[in-house]
Formats: sequence, structure tokens, C-alpha cells
Amino acid sequence: MSARPVPRPTVLSEPFWAAARRGDLVVPECVSCDLRFFVPEPACPGCMARDWRYAPSSGRGTVYTVTVVHRAPGPGFEAPFALAVVDLDDGGTLLSHVDAGDPDDVVIGMRVRVDFRALTDRITLPYFVPES
Ligand SMILES: [Zn+2]
Repeated sequence: MSARPVPRPTVLSEPFWAAARRGDLVVPECVSCDLRFFVPEPACPGCMARDWRYAPSSGRGTVYTVTVVHRAPGPGFEAPFALAVVDLDDGGTLLSHVDAGDPDDVVIGMRVRVDFRALTDRITLPYFVPES
């Protein structure tokens, strides 16, 4: 069985991965306009300020939209799976797996919370699961 591709942390994303290893979700927050965004970029996509920091998130949110992927995008993925855009309650939007058992059970408007799955020693992926 071949291994699934592993995300490679960059200077911008390393604090995100370090937090995920601890079981914490953090998202970039602009110091100038308070916008929370994802993925981390050199400048705030709202106002272009370069001054942003990672802010803790509750990891709770709502499924904005979802698709079920039936064909594995590469080795190591188990299809089918649900891939969703999650609107976080405290700001920011993440594209993430939502594991509800049956991927067809993931629907728009579903309440979810973050959950973490270790992929390697260094990389822990945020997933979302139905809020209980
Ligand atoms: Zn901004």
C-alpha cells in the first residue's frame, strides 16, 4: 500500500501544524482589519496588511458546502469521503474532510467540530466530525 502524500509545512504554515499536533486549531487573523482567513498567506486577503497572527479557534462551525469524492485523488486516500467548506463560528473558512461515518450524511448547514488525526509524527490533520 502506498502512502498518502503528506503536507509540507512552510514558514507561514508551521505554527498551524504545530498547533494541530497539540490538538489546537489556529487560523490567521489580521491585526489591521480582524479578518480571519485560511490558508495562511503573506498578506491579509481583505486589506493586504502583512501584519497578521495566528488566533485560536473553538473549532466549531457549520458546513457551508460539501461534495463527496468518489475517486481517490491519489494513493493512501480511502474513497468515498466528504470534502466540505466549513464556516468557523469565530471566523474563517476551512476546506476539510468531514467524517460522519457515511459521507452522504454530511449536509449543508450541519453543525461540526474539529477533530485531529495524526498522519505522521510531524503532521496531524484537522478533520471535522458532527457536533455532539
Ligand atoms: Zn486585513
